[in-house]
Amino acid sequence: MLQTRSGKRTGAAAVKIACDMVKEKLINEKEALMRIPAGDLVQLLLPSFDPKKKVTADLLTRGLPASPGASVGKPAFTADEAVERSHAGEKIILVRKETSPEDVDGMHSAVGILTSTGGMTSHAAVVARGWGKCCVAGAGEIQIDANKGTFVVGGKSFGRKDIISIDGGTGEVFAGAISTITPELSGDFSKVMRWADKYATMAVRTNADAPADATRAREFGAKGIGLTRTEHMFFEGPRIKAMREMILAETIEDREMALEKLLPYQREDFIGIFRAMNGLPVTIRLLDPPLHEFLPHETPQQKDLAASMNVPLSKIKQRVSMLHELNPMLGHRGCRLAVTYPEILRMQVRAIVEAAIECVGEKVRPMPEIMIPLIGTVQEFRLLRAETEKVIATVKTEMEFKKRLDIKIGTMIEIPRAALTAEEIGREADFFSFGTNDLTQLTFGYSRDDVNTFLPDYINQGILPVDPFQSLDQTGVGQLVQMGIDGGLAGNPDLKIGICGEHGGDPDSIDFCHRVGLAYVSCSPFRVPIARLAAAQAAIRHG
Ligand code: PEP
Ligand code: MG
Repeated sequence: MLQTRSGKRTGAAAVKIACDMVKEKLINEKEALMRIPAGDLVQLLLPSFDPKKKVTADLLTRGLPASPGASVGKPAFTADEAVERSHAGEKIILVRKETSPEDVDGMHSAVGILTSTGGMTSHAAVVARGWGKCCVAGAGEIQIDANKGTFVVGGKSFGRKDIISIDGGTGEVFAGAISTITPELSGDFSKVMRWADKYATMAVRTNADAPADATRAREFGAKGIGLTRTEHMFFEGPRIKAMREMILAETIEDREMALEKLLPYQREDFIGIFRAMNGLPVTIRLLDPPLHEFLPHETPQQKDLAASMNVPLSKIKQRVSMLHELNPMLGHRGCRLAVTYPEILRMQVRAIVEAAIECVGEKVRPMPEIMIPLIGTVQEFRLLRAETEKVIATVKTEMEFKKRLDIKIGTMIEIPRAALTAEEIGREADFFSFGTNDLTQLTFGYSRDDVNTFLPDYINQGILPVDPFQSLDQTGVGQLVQMGIDGGLAGNPDLKIGICGEHGGDPDSIDFCHRVGLAYVSCSPFRVPIARLAAAQAAIRHG
């Protein structure tokens, strides 16, 4: 024998070979788990292109593999167009420079999403991953002309009638249609998952914002929700109107009136999520993004809003420009919103408590954890925790609820200063969750939305080994995580600590999370099986 090397195999083949070898007593369960590349499990859950057809396909360009899966469709260039044409029966790939919360309906109705800017934690990437929808982000060679309804790449032009295929697992964009293979889950997959849970010491939770996503994640084995991004609940149908009224309100009374309209929607969503996660913890993050993200930025949509609110267009334009910030990700967002507008926090906390009490009445066991985002100083946390506790007590009294309602209040550690001062924050918090998307952004000083302008050069020239928004930078950002854990536990030995940044679904980062002793990782529903296997592998590897 001159040479041996590992046989190349698909995710499905790796699972079958490992299980067959255990059956034949050639290897044990632990060895079997170590032989399956965790990241390849996604091939068992989402469609992929037929490899034989893919090799001969016309590759146009390559972007970031932002959300796995394979999609074939015709380009649409605005969210409204995507909704309209999808309803008319077309398969649509939404092609945008970047997406924002305004595009959510269009993203939902499209079969895939392609953007020319943005990184692995940009809006398009995070939202698509949450839904298990195929997305290629940051394909910088694509030039989009939304007015003309075309995009140009490599000298070729594509319009609304041209079919394209995108591979969200590799970032490839092809001309024409490639046939796809839809996976079927085998009994071997469940067996591997059972073995994984036997050896893993960290729990796997999910990032989910809607009851349907929570249910799916639970089917994939999630042991709770590590992050509900409540802002994603404000876009559908009439909600966005009430949200915009709230933002445009000039007095606290008007703002509270608009918040009254949002309260029932929030409460219903939380009831749905608590039911789906009955008996498991649900971490709900209070409003995080800058408010301008909720307002329309194009004149036709601004005109519609002005008409529906019965105010002049100039007023809408003035408020949009007032909320404009040069660096919104460093601006008025996260807990800073609740400091300025405590009535938003009050509405959200009320919705959580009312939903929890209603669930108790129907014999569902809600386990809410209220998470205050973007804390940088203990004073912010202290102030907002007190406000949160006040609302919890008020609602319980109003609803004459006498039983124990266990609601934890904690924070994200996503600002370097929070990691540096973790001991004093830990003394006042019930839990920490590392928001490593923002922590990476703020530690490197790379904008998570613009990183792809230079990242390919950094990777090609060996300045960075991998995209730090995809796989945690253990040397640098990892030190802050370690500091946050050590400080937090020094302040509060009972502190529960997990991670909810996108790194929670990346096997190498999960290995790091195990080594530093996190209690859980949280990731999008389709990455839950990957994380369960990666957590088991880390436990086997490190003991
Ligand atoms: C984070 O910053 O890691 C995080 C989970 O929050 P978001 O991505 O919503 O900013
Ligand atoms: Mg964040």
